[in-house]
Amino acid sequence: MAKHPDVAIIGGGIIGLTSAYFLAKEGLSVAVYDQSDFGKEASWAGAGIIPPGNPDRAATPADKLRGIGSVRFPTFSAELRELTGIDNGYRLCGGIDFLEPEDRDVPTVWHAEGIAFERLTLAGAKRLEPLGEVEGEPHLLPACAQVRNPRHLRALITACDRVGVRLNANTGAEAWELGSNRITSVQLAGGERVIAGRFLLAAGAWSELLLRPLGHRPHVRPVLGQIALLKGPSCSRVLMLGKRYLVPRGDGLTLIGSTEEPEAGFEKRTTAAGVEELVAFARRTVLPLADATLETSWAGLRPGSPDGLPFIGNVPGWDNAFVACGHFRAGVQLSIGTAQAITELLTGKPTSVDLAAFALDRTPDTSTKSAFRS
Ligand SMILES: Cc1cc2nc3c(=O)[nH]c(=O)nc-3n(C[C@H](O)[C@H](O)[C@H](O)COP(=O)(O)OP(=O)(O)OC[C@H]3O[C@@H](n4cnc5c(N)ncnc54)[C@H](O)[C@@H]3O)c2cc1C
Repeated sequence: MAKHPDVAIIGGGIIGLTSAYFLAKEGLSVAVYDQSDFGKEASWAGAGIIPPGNPDRAATPADKLRGIGSVRFPTFSAELRELTGIDNGYRLCGGIDFLEPEDRDVPTVWHAEGIAFERLTLAGAKRLEPLGEVEGEPHLLPACAQVRNPRHLRALITACDRVGVRLNANTGAEAWELGSNRITSVQLAGGERVIAGRFLLAAGAWSELLLRPLGHRPHVRPVLGQIALLKGPSCSRVLMLGKRYLVPRGDGLTLIGSTEEPEAGFEKRTTAAGVEELVAFARRTVLPLADATLETSWAGLRPGSPDGLPFIGNVPGWDNAFVACGHFRAGVQLSIGTAQAITELLTGKPTSVDLAAFALDRTPDTSTKSAFRS
């Protein structure tokens, strides 16, 4: 690789690593810098739900990003497995979404998008899964899938290495050196300066710290999410009830998520109350889980944004600065679409998704509702 990479990526979570892999496959020289180990923050902690979608009939750019993820995840998983030998655990397990009264428009959105679904009666849902107490109207989503995040991250890291991405762990970016309208270099912890053609900021919940010196304050902030892992007989599909969900891994383990704590700051920790609440939810929702054992629990910092949508595209005012952050509850399902759009942008191609909706200087529109919460 040339001494100075074409693209220096700050942040090696799912967004930075997927982008690095796609860019390197297009022939660009890429280096990724992470302040700790790669893929150990939100991307590691997430539940890995990949809801269904259809990019050709999506109504909004966010739905289109989700649709790209839904359609490309199976082939991308196979590509990673072939290249690295690592199976990321992608599985079309199906799901049941229990819609609440405020979700009354959601089936119309699914229908318009061409997503397969079936409205179930409660008795019908109970014939499919060993349900206990549930609220909401059950809707079967046969094309709902899941991926095992830690395995997917391991596959991505290995794949990046195989295609020549330079991976630099424990080298956090501390400051930019700025020209009049360009970033000249980034200064790393330890003092080294890295010069690159272009810079992509993909630092998850920490991105705001590096956007401020560029004159932007989009209010990307950490939103803590706790998860409990239970062991024992369970359901077989992903169950989604409001902001809570159960993700059966198919090996006797069920992931119960998740809390949403916007005031916890950067303190990544589980609490007795948070885990107890998740376990109680699981026990009343799926009958056999009443006898499950608590295997472990963990927490992650979602990169929250004011309207829940990510920031993807050029950093206004800086010719060679780009951003991909703020994916909040959906960074896994949006990772492929995001990396695809970033790669198109950085290789001079028209983007398959209209990036105006994800502009750093947009006015947040909190009235936009997502067809899925996770
Ligand atoms: C509990 C929980 C459940 C979730 N469930 C789902 C789900 O089911 N489906 C879904 O699609 N999404 C889910 N998400 C959301 C998803 O995990 C995130 O949106 C996604 O992981 C964000 O990826 P990222 O790469 O932007 O951030 P991260 O994974 O946080 O990566 C950012 C990286 O940047 C590094 N970094 C930070 N500052 C610097 C710096 N100065 N220099 C260098 N490196 C730096 C960090 O060390 C980190 O490795 C969930 C999240 C949580 C927490």
